[in-house]
Amino acid sequence: MAKSCIFCRIAAGEFGTAFIHEDDVCVAFHDLKPQAPTHVLLIPRRHIDSIVATSPSDQAMLGHLLSVATRVAEQLGVGERGFRLVINSGPDGGQSVDHLHVHILGGRAMAWPPG
Ligand code: 5GP
Ligand code: ZN
Repeated sequence: MAKSCIFCRIAAGEFGTAFIHEDDVCVAFHDLKPQAPTHVLLIPRRHIDSIVATSPSDQAMLGHLLSVATRVAEQLGVGERGFRLVINSGPDGGQSVDHLHVHILGGRAMAWPPG
């Protein structure tokens, strides 16, 4: 755990955040500033700066995140209408928290191209 990392602290239960999903590998919780009616963040428990900081040994964890993200979307009722999974990386990607996370966005039609 990175002591200064807000997502590590959330995953450790420091703030009593309600988890929509939790298992040995990851936790999911509502985004503080939702950008859609459904906006959940799914993060690995282990601190990893970003998708760029992963290695081939993280394949199982990354696959797990995608699988869980899909199940969470279904659980939240946006599976049928559709949803968007987003991983921002680096300054151009719009990443603002340096702990790998998947955004699960749904409940409205998404625009393309993204901003
Ligand atoms: P990024 O911009 O890095 O892709 O996404 C970071 C997300 O984390 C943003 O959508 C932001 O609203 C959310 N966020 C930042 N700090 C907190 C926090 O303390 N709690 C929660 N639940 N979300 C946070
Ligand atoms: Zn962290």
